[in-house]
Amino acid sequence: MDPLVDPFGRSIRYLRVSVTDRCDFRCVYCMSEDMTFLPKNEILTLEELDRLCSAFVRHGVEKLRITGGEPLVRRNIMSFFEAMGRHLRSGALRELTLTTNGSQLERFAADLARVGVRRVNVSLDTLDEDRFRKLTRWGRLPQVLRGIEAAHAAGLRVKINAVALKGDTEEEMFDLVQWCAKEGHDLTFIEVMPMGDIGNEMRLDQFWSLRDLRARLAERYTLTDVTERTGGPARYVRLEETGQKIGFITPLSHNFCESCNRVRLTCTGQLHTCLGQEGASDLRASLRASTMDDAVLDDAIRAAIRLKPKGHDFDYSRGEAGVVGGRISRHMSHTGG
Ligand code: SAM
Ligand code: SF4
Repeated sequence: MDPLVDPFGRSIRYLRVSVTDRCDFRCVYCMSEDMTFLPKNEILTLEELDRLCSAFVRHGVEKLRITGGEPLVRRNIMSFFEAMGRHLRSGALRELTLTTNGSQLERFAADLARVGVRRVNVSLDTLDEDRFRKLTRWGRLPQVLRGIEAAHAAGLRVKINAVALKGDTEEEMFDLVQWCAKEGHDLTFIEVMPMGDIGNEMRLDQFWSLRDLRARLAERYTLTDVTERTGGPARYVRLEETGQKIGFITPLSHNFCESCNRVRLTCTGQLHTCLGQEGASDLRASLRASTMDDAVLDDAIRAAIRLKPKGHDFDYSRGEAGVVGGRISRHMSHTGG
């Protein structure tokens, strides 16, 4: 089957799939404490997710990242990972991976490795128990650290994703860098994005530019830009003193749209072809229109890719997070980070 190519000539090779909007944490930059979740009947079943993801793999998607909400809290999620493992074995899929808060990794790390997962992104913004509780509201740090150890023991490569937060990350960035160096984990910092309504004041309070973070890092380390790109949104620097590579994801600058090869599927079957645009295509309707064959679905996928925009539209202009046209109303936990 022909690979998916968008109107700007970008081949779509990477699908991120949110398998649930639910989560066992309530991170302050992601959710409000009293989040309302989608009714269960709106969520795709695991069988439907299998059919959809398999259609994308048939269309040339080589990398699948499972996310959420918290993917590992979805009931029976390992059966889905096992199902996707068959695409690894057939050679159609080059990588099956996930982004997780780590709370359930202790339980699942060995199974994930068994089905063919090789790397896992764990979101961890702090190594301080009190701060962890403050930022995640419901999370407990020791549980996540045990999960990371289990992942390591199962042979999974761990990448830590830390959201850059004013004050908190400023105080702790060197501890995180040193801990990752000691444990052998990769580390990427992410700029807070204006997604979901958690209150505008909160956003401005939270935002800490990665330019500032980088400048702080340079006070203590010699930074060398890593020029080769991985195809993803991150830019990397090497710390000469430790040899570590540190990633920066700054979605607010338009530095990766032109090479963007990814699309995102929500747990309700909406396909977002750009994280920073509101538009989406409803693949659930096409999926449910015919259970006999995938012709309708295949057409709907191709039509959706034809709508992929050239770039995104985030804007914190004039110091106001969430100005018209610059804020995305859905939460990150809905689209999957
Ligand atoms: N629950 C999993 C986790 O936390 O890794 C997967 C889903 S979470 C939505 C994916 C990533 O999005 C996490 O690394 C999280 O820190 C990040 N994230 C959530 N809200 C964000 C926001 N408003 N801006 C930037 N990153 C955000
Ligand atoms: Fe849950 Fe991940 Fe959002 Fe935190 S960032 S509330 S762990 S979905």
